[in-house]
Amino acid sequence: MSLFSGLDDICQENVSLKDYTWLRLGGPARYFLRPKDEAQLQDVVLRCRDNGVPFYVLGMGANLLVGESGVNGAVIKLDSSRFTRIAFRKDRLTVGAGTDLRRVVVRTVRKGLAGLHCLAGIPGTVGGAIRMNAGGAWGDIGSVVHRVQVMNADGKALWRDRDELVFEYRHTSLSEPLILGVEFSLSPSDPKRVFQQVREIWTYKKNTQPFRARNAGCIFKNPRQMSAGALIDQAGLKGARCGGAVVSERHANFMIAESGTKASDMLKLISIVREKVAKKFSVHLELEVQVW
Ligand SMILES: Cc1cc2nc3c(=O)[nH]c(=O)nc-3n(C[C@H](O)[C@H](O)[C@H](O)COP(=O)(O)OP(=O)(O)OC[C@H]3O[C@@H](n4cnc5c(N)ncnc54)[C@H](O)[C@@H]3O)c2cc1C
Repeated sequence: MSLFSGLDDICQENVSLKDYTWLRLGGPARYFLRPKDEAQLQDVVLRCRDNGVPFYVLGMGANLLVGESGVNGAVIKLDSSRFTRIAFRKDRLTVGAGTDLRRVVVRTVRKGLAGLHCLAGIPGTVGGAIRMNAGGAWGDIGSVVHRVQVMNADGKALWRDRDELVFEYRHTSLSEPLILGVEFSLSPSDPKRVFQQVREIWTYKKNTQPFRARNAGCIFKNPRQMSAGALIDQAGLKGARCGGAVVSERHANFMIAESGTKASDMLKLISIVREKVAKKFSVHLELEVQVW
C-alpha cells in the first residue's frame, strides 16, 4: 500500500521540480502533495512523521535551488483556495501562506494601507516571505506581522504572537516546519503616496536587477556591514560562468541560469565565487538561496 493511499487526488509521484522554481532547475520530488485544507495537511504531516519520510514546503520557488537528484521525500505545496485567502478587517489583514505576495501588495496599496508596500518586486508566497523574512532597503515583512499561524511536526496548528517571534535579516525564529497563514497589522495611509513609493521601488529594482533572466534573487546574504554583490564585483567575478550559470553583469549577487544550465553548474559557480571572495577578502559568504 502506498504511503499516501487514499490521498490520490492531492498526491503525485516523481514530479519534476523544475517547473516550480524560478531557476527552472533540479530533479523530481518523490511525492508532491497539494493538500486542500488543514485536515488533509495534518494527515500528510503525520504520515510523513510515522514513516520517517522528510517533507519540504514549497512556496513559489523564488529562493530555491533544487539539485539534479531532486528530493527523496515529500514536497508540500499550499496552493489550494484554503491556503490562498485574503481577508481585510480595518487595518488588519489575514492571508493564507500560499498566497502570491505580489497580489497581497497590490491589494493593500489599493486600499491605502502601508506596510507591505515595501516588498514590491519580491516574488514568492506569503509563507516563503515569512520564512525568509523577505525585504530589503525599504523594510522587511517581519516588521508588520501581528501573528503567524503554523503547524508543528505533530500536525498541530497553532498561532505564534509577534512578541514570541524574532525577525532578523533573512531569518525568523519560527521553529515549526509549516507556516499556514499570517495576520498583518498595517497603517492607513494616503493611497497615492503608497502607490508612488511602490513605483519608486519598482523603478529602482528594474534598473539594478536582471529581471528578465532566470534567477533566484540574491544568492548570498550580505555579510555584516558589507554588500555581497560589491565583494563579488571587486573580486572580478561579474560575468564569471560555469556551463550555463553566469554571475549577472547587472548585479553581482544574482546568478543567471541560461538555457541548458544544470543545477550542478549553479552549485559549482557558487563554490567558485565563495572561494575567490574568501581568498581576496577573508570573508565567508553565507547562502541566502535555499538548496534542496
Ligand atoms: C527576481 C527576484 C528578486 C528577489 N528579490 C528579493 C528581495 O528584494 N528581497 C528578498 O528578501 N528576497 C528576494 N528574492 C527571493 C525570494 O523572492 C524570497 O525569498 C521569497 O520570500 C521566496 O518566497 P517563495 O514562496 O518563492 O519561497 P520558496 O523559494 O519556495 O522557499 C523558500 C524557503 O521558504 C520555505 N517556505 C516556503 N513556504 C513555506 C511555508 N508555507 N511554510 C514554511 N516554510 C515555507 C521553503 O521551505 C524554503 O526553505 C528575490 C527573488 C527573485 C527571483
